[in-house]
Amino acid sequence: MTSQDYLQLADYRRRVHALYAAVRGLYAQDPEAAHAHWRRERDALFRTHPQSALSPGERAAFAGLRYYEYDPDLAFTIPLTPGGAADRVAGEETPTVAGSGAGAGAPFVRAGAVDLPIGRLHVYWLDAYGGGLFLPFRDATSGRTTYGGGRYLLDTVKGADLGTTADGRLILDFNFAYHPSCHYEETWSCPLAPGENWLPGAVSAGEHVYDPPALAVQPSGAQGTQLVTLEPIPANAQVASFAGAPRLPQPTRYSIQVSESGHIEDLGLFRNLNHSCAPSVRLDVSTLTVRAVRDLSAGEALTFFYPSTEWHMATPFTCLCGAADCLGTVSGAEDLPLDVLLRYDVSPHVLSLRSAAAAAALR
Ligand SMILES: [Zn+2]
Repeated sequence: MTSQDYLQLADYRRRVHALYAAVRGLYAQDPEAAHAHWRRERDALFRTHPQSALSPGERAAFAGLRYYEYDPDLAFTIPLTPGGAADRVAGEETPTVAGSGAGAGAPFVRAGAVDLPIGRLHVYWLDAYGGGLFLPFRDATSGRTTYGGGRYLLDTVKGADLGTTADGRLILDFNFAYHPSCHYEETWSCPLAPGENWLPGAVSAGEHVYDPPALAVQPSGAQGTQLVTLEPIPANAQVASFAGAPRLPQPTRYSIQVSESGHIEDLGLFRNLNHSCAPSVRLDVSTLTVRAVRDLSAGEALTFFYPSTEWHMATPFTCLCGAADCLGTVSGAEDLPLDVLLRYDVSPHVLSLRSAAAAAALR
């Protein structure tokens, strides 16, 4: 670790603390909105922060972290009961921190236990400088749809803290369960759930395994390069997240328009996304995510209908996509009739700019 690494790591921690402070504020009003905010901000941190657990190559092809749909039945408020409080967690079962700079074998004691409908879990206290609550668990999804080493729900020394209610009950919402860093980067080590925190049933909530489709940039005759999937992708699967991409006021050669006056160009491998009049992916500008529009087979190019986001294109081009209803010349949505636009998944800003243009023409 260099001095710069320490500063960046401190910044990462700061941002995670700020994220959970925002989540606690939102959660009191609307847990599902808090969850959506948490997902978006975690994607932005993973994709853009220098201390991301993902390698630079993985960040360029970032598909967004994956989660189960929000399930309100797995959100609890629960009193913390003694449950073997203050015992050192013994023997091989001791969760230890290694390789994190905190030194191997950081000590945990039991702060208490919670008796939930899904089983009993112990809540630990990091009995070292700084301290903090820690709640790791494993369940029947571990090693299948979630990381084999289990997941975390609370790790307050790092900021992961959903808080308590006014009457002192812990807020434990398993939709916020997340993977330890070692899931993404094998050289990291993480304290894992001791046997007493292994739940017999499946907790189908929170984060899934991160297993994005493998993509490659390949040469492609007239277009120069193309972005290709190396494995099948089911319809509607998320293939990219541009969370955290800075907004630019003006388009650039590689940018995508995401609002009436905002553009992003921090697209990683998706800079190589070509236009097609029969596109294989679409962009949701509200979440900055890209999804497959149909089942894609291995070797198929990822393509996008440029006028679905671009109102004005400085350099129209002759399309060579070969689609049956190819437009021929591709330019911005401003040049296309509404009935053509409506054949595609067009972004809301394009439709509102189209309405404004139509209204202006009538004047
Ligand atoms: Zn075409």
